[in-house]
Amino acid sequence: MNYKLWIDGKWEDTKGGKMMSIEDPATGKNIAEVVDASREDVNRAVQAAKTAFYDGRWSKKTPSERSKIIWKLADLMEANAEKLAKVESENTGKPYEFVSLGGDIPFAVDNLRFFASAARDTHGSHAGEFMTGYTSIYRREPVGVVGQIAPWNYPVMMAAWKIGPALAAGCTIVLKPAPGTPLTTLMLGEIIKEAGIPDGVVNIISGGNDAGQAIVEHPDVRMVSLTGSTGTGKKIMKTAADTLKRVHLELGGKAPFIVFDDSDPELVAAKASMAAYMNTGQDCTAATRLYVERGKSKVMQEAVVEAMKNVKVGLPFEDGVQMGPLISKVQRERVSGFVERAKSAGAKILTGGGVPKGFDQGYFFEPTVITNVQQDSEIVQQEVFGPVVTVQEFSDEADALSKGNDVLYGLAASIFTRDIGRAMRLSSQLEFGTVWVNDHLPLTSETPHGGFKQSGFGKDLSAEAIGDYQITKHVMVAQG
Ligand code: NAD
Repeated sequence: MNYKLWIDGKWEDTKGGKMMSIEDPATGKNIAEVVDASREDVNRAVQAAKTAFYDGRWSKKTPSERSKIIWKLADLMEANAEKLAKVESENTGKPYEFVSLGGDIPFAVDNLRFFASAARDTHGSHAGEFMTGYTSIYRREPVGVVGQIAPWNYPVMMAAWKIGPALAAGCTIVLKPAPGTPLTTLMLGEIIKEAGIPDGVVNIISGGNDAGQAIVEHPDVRMVSLTGSTGTGKKIMKTAADTLKRVHLELGGKAPFIVFDDSDPELVAAKASMAAYMNTGQDCTAATRLYVERGKSKVMQEAVVEAMKNVKVGLPFEDGVQMGPLISKVQRERVSGFVERAKSAGAKILTGGGVPKGFDQGYFFEPTVITNVQQDSEIVQQEVFGPVVTVQEFSDEADALSKGNDVLYGLAASIFTRDIGRAMRLSSQLEFGTVWVNDHLPLTSETPHGGFKQSGFGKDLSAEAIGDYQITKHVMVAQG
C-alpha cells in the first residue's frame, strides 16, 4: 500500500520528498510506502492550515458545532476500530487485543468524546470593571496553526491526544506522526473529512526528523506540541526560540515503583510486571525502577521475577499474547546495549536479557529483571524504552523518596503500601506529574498527563490540555 500526504482535505503527491518503507516489527517485512515530506510539503500543509484558521471555517464555529463534529469523529473512529487496530498492530507489533478491545483505540475514542464535551465548557472566561468607567473582557482564543509531532509507541492514541484538545480549542493543525509508524494516523485523514471537519483544518504529513524541524521553524506555526524524547524536546525548544513560538513538550520518563514491606507480594508482582512489559516497555510511564523495602525485598523480588518469566511473548495476532516485539532493529540494539553495559558494570540478570528462543524474525526481546545496580548507573538513570526493570533496596521512607526522585525525569511514579499517611506524604514529595498509589499505568481522559523536570511541560488529556491550545486576550472597553 502506498500513502500520499493529507493536505487541505485530499491526498496530495509530494513535491520534492522521497518515499520511505514502513516495516512490520514482528517480521521485519515491508508493509507500506509513505512519503518523507519535503520542506515544500510542510509549507503547503502550513498554508492550508493557515487559510483554514484565518477564514474561520473552524475557529469561528460555536463550541457546540465543534463539539458535535468531534463527537462524530469519535463515532467514526469507533466504527473503523477493527480496520485501524489491524493496521496499528501490523505497524507496531502490539498485540491486537491490546489495541482493539479494551486497548488503545477504545481509549482514543473516549479521549475524543471527552474533548468533544470539554469544548463546550466555558469555565474561566469572565468580564468585570477593574478601572472606573471601563469594562474588561477576557477572551480565550485558539492559539492558531499548531504543529503536532508524535512518537511511535502509541501512534493512533497520540494522534487523538494531539488533535482532540487542539480541535476543541479551535486551532488548525499540521500533524506529523513518527517516521516508522505513520499508517493509522494517515488513515485518520479520510475519517476526519467524513466527520465534517472542514478541509485544511487537520493536515497530516508523514516524514522524518527534517520534516519535523521544518514544522518547528515555520513562522506561521504558533505552537508546537511534541510527544517524544527529552533530547528532541530540547532541540525543538531551541529551534522554537527563533520564532518565539509556544512549545508543549511530553517527553521521556523513568518511573520509580516504590514497594513498602506492608504490600501484598502478589499485587506487586502483577502490577510491576504489567507496568514493565506493557507495550514491550515502550511506554513513557513504564515501571522501570523497582525499589523494595529491605525487610521483604527477597520475597517481592522473587514474585516479580516469576511474573516476568510468565509473560506470554508472541506475534501480535496470536491469542493471549501479552507482549510483542520492540519497534525496530535499532531499538532492540539500543535496549540490548543498555543491558550488556549494565552486565559489564556488575549487574545481575535475574531473568531475560536477550532475544527469546524461537524468535528469529522481528525484533523481540525478553522481559528482563536486573539487580546489583548502582543508583548512579546508566541503567538506573537513562530511559531504556524496553521491557527492562531494575530492582534495588531502600532502608526507609526518606531513602525511598531520595532514590525515587534521583533522576532527570519526572513523568510518573507509584507507591505500594497499606499506610495511607505514608502514601499521602510521599505522593506530595515525589516530583512526578502522575503518582499512583497501589497501582501503576491507568490514565483517564479527564485526568491531566504531563511531566515535571526533564519530562517536559504542558498537559495532554483533561481540560488543561485544551487550555494549553488557547491564549487569553483582554478586551478593555471604555464605557464613555
Ligand atoms: P523521538 O524524540 O525520536 O521522535 C518523536 C518525534 O519527533 C518524531 O515524529 C520525530 O520525527 C520528531 N523529531 C525528531 N527530531 C526532531 C526535530 N529536531 N525537530 C522536530 N521534530 C523532530 O521519540 P520517539 O523515539 O519517537 O518516541 C519515544 C520517546 O517518546 C520516549 O522518550 C518516550 O518516553 C517519549 N514519550 C513520551 C510520552 C509522554 O506522554 N510524555 C508519551 C509517549 C512517548
